[in-house]
Amino acid sequence: MRGLYIHIPFCVSKCFYCDFYSVSEKLGLMDEYIDVLLAEADSCRGMDFSTLYLGGGTPSILGAERLEKLVIGLRRRFDLHDLQESTIEVNPESAGIDLLATAYRLGIGRVSIGIQSLNDGELKKSGRAHNRRQALETIDSALSSGYRNISADIMIGLPGQTAQSLGETLSVLTGAGINHVSAYCLSVEEGTAFYRCPPPDLPGEDEQASLFEYAVDILKTHGFVHYEISNLARPGSECLHNLNYWRGGEYLGLGPAAASHISGTRFRNSPNLERYLVDPLSDREGEEHLEDASKAGEEAMLRLRLVQEGLDMQKMNNKYGRNAIEGVEARPNKLVGRRSLAREGDVFRLQPAYVLISNSVFIDVIG
Ligand code: SF4
Repeated sequence: MRGLYIHIPFCVSKCFYCDFYSVSEKLGLMDEYIDVLLAEADSCRGMDFSTLYLGGGTPSILGAERLEKLVIGLRRRFDLHDLQESTIEVNPESAGIDLLATAYRLGIGRVSIGIQSLNDGELKKSGRAHNRRQALETIDSALSSGYRNISADIMIGLPGQTAQSLGETLSVLTGAGINHVSAYCLSVEEGTAFYRCPPPDLPGEDEQASLFEYAVDILKTHGFVHYEISNLARPGSECLHNLNYWRGGEYLGLGPAAASHISGTRFRNSPNLERYLVDPLSDREGEEHLEDASKAGEEAMLRLRLVQEGLDMQKMNNKYGRNAIEGVEARPNKLVGRRSLAREGDVFRLQPAYVLISNSVFIDVIG
């Protein structure tokens, strides 16, 4: 299975916690950007993909016309006949009915909405460009455009967020037709507005952990399954594109800051829009070819993110062979002794108490 990721690096404004690669002052470059991105796509014409994901940034900022040009251009260059899933990320301030109806008509059957919260105070303090009314209107527009596969991004640990406000956000969303939630914990990263000026009412680490557990409990009560550390879905609505990442599959990323992993080689486009527009193929960084043992180690770490499915050593053995996975099996075995992982037959799973501190476990797994 192979996924195609398209990065749209434009946003209306910069959210105060955001450290993704996106720009908000160069929106006049969007037309040129589509042309250059399709030129990058020309360099790998003919490849086939099982999933398509338009992410960002804010893909909905493109508007219906540019979106159509982009999707038709991708269809001309790649074999997308057997797509199992296509997703577009949208933000409420730029996802009108026109954009959503066009996306649906173009065959993009899954929409992921950057809602983050339905509390106007939390949204404003975080520098989000939308409010509660716009978020709810976006869900309505998605439904009336035909979407039945709708995901919402939720942020845990926003300034001023409480269990009550989070509970209200989630119960409204679960009743509004959402079948997938990505719940990310806010972390204050260097270079962000929150790093320069941390808000006084940011929930502390323990408070954030309780909010996360609370969110998971509420969603489970509404029939969602916690299938990946930060992702919950109604059964059968898991994100196939992201499952492919976590199962060690191949993917091609187009656009600045997009990463690729094809035939054992990994590389990433530099996060620099200006240089990308001059020549999209000349600014790649970090190209490396992974040997089977390192690839297996990385895949083991990724698979442990799948808290239900876990890391199945039989599948790893079938894929990489006994020699490559010897070290990979020994390290998780040690962690079973330390109780951060559990083993059932051939399958290792992350223990619930370690979900929020999984990075420390993964460092030990990768060795
Ligand atoms: S909309 Fe998303 S990508 Fe854009 S600035 Fe906000 S968090 Fe970052």
